Amino acid sequence: MFLLDVNDEEYGLKPMNCPGHATIFEQNSWSYRDLPVRYAENGKVYRKEQRGELSGLSRVWAFTIDDGHLFCTPEQIESEVNDIMAMINDVLETFDLDYEVALATRPEKSVGGDEIWEKAESQLESVLESANMEYDLEAGDGAFYGPKIDFAFTDALGRKWDGPTVQLDFNMPERFDLTYTGEDNEDHRPVMIHRALYGSFERFFMVLIEHYDGKFPLWLAPEQVRILPISDDELGYAHRLKNDLEDADFRVDIEDRSWTLGRKIREAQDDRIPYMLVVGSDEAEAGTVSVRDRKEREQQDVELDSFIDHLETERAERREEPDFLG
Ligand code: ZN
Repeated sequence: MFLLDVNDEEYGLKPMNCPGHATIFEQNSWSYRDLPVRYAENGKVYRKEQRGELSGLSRVWAFTIDDGHLFCTPEQIESEVNDIMAMINDVLETFDLDYEVALATRPEKSVGGDEIWEKAESQLESVLESANMEYDLEAGDGAFYGPKIDFAFTDALGRKWDGPTVQLDFNMPERFDLTYTGEDNEDHRPVMIHRALYGSFERFFMVLIEHYDGKFPLWLAPEQVRILPISDDELGYAHRLKNDLEDADFRVDIEDRSWTLGRKIREAQDDRIPYMLVVGSDEAEAGTVSVRDRKEREQQDVELDSFIDHLETERAERREEPDFLG
């Protein structure tokens, strides 16, 4: 942890979001009718890794987790995990990444009784079976505090990276003495579920960059179109084009440095921008554009409207490669 001395008191930057959510749950008294209670936060956490252990975007000092914590009865585990799996599926389908799934079960040393472990593991299995999901059973590989379903992304080099996760926890509710009042009017322990769809956003971005080799599909590209005026005379026209594209919600930049056109094209190519619009005096006069894509295909005399029509379809269908030019 990063520790700070503030007016002679020791403060620490939070290394995880879970205890914060447990503390929020603790502030209220809950009945079984209130459960499940679900908290979610894009929470920034800080971990003081040794310098030698830092690596790119995968291991950093500060990162953000799309962290969720659910508090439910033991009987609600299956339906809650089902809902989480539906959200995870959305993520997996959206990004078309390769992944593996594993169910990790009770290790030798664990907290919680036989009954809760068996109940929990059988519900997780049933979620995976009903989702028709292929998974590895990693017997004995769960955390001491509960079983879990882990997704690992595999990149082009066959390396695995932590992805979405669903983790049951019988320990933290114990340590924070979390309770709800059951139908029998007695106090009961809720089950805590930790879940993340992306995990660390930083690490997820790294996986995406690797996966696409920096050549993002149009819908994901941080800069979707770059306008390359041949000379400063076309700057006014370039700005009008930019406005029209931005009206259609595209991310557009103008290359306005006084470089040769060749250099502007090379730079855009290196930046892997899906589309370049080259505009000279002919285009400005005719009200058209010359379209180039990052695969070095080119077409002149294109009407901006038909180009925007195409971009909208390409974006909506999340096509992997720019295909206006074939
Ligand atoms: Zn957590």
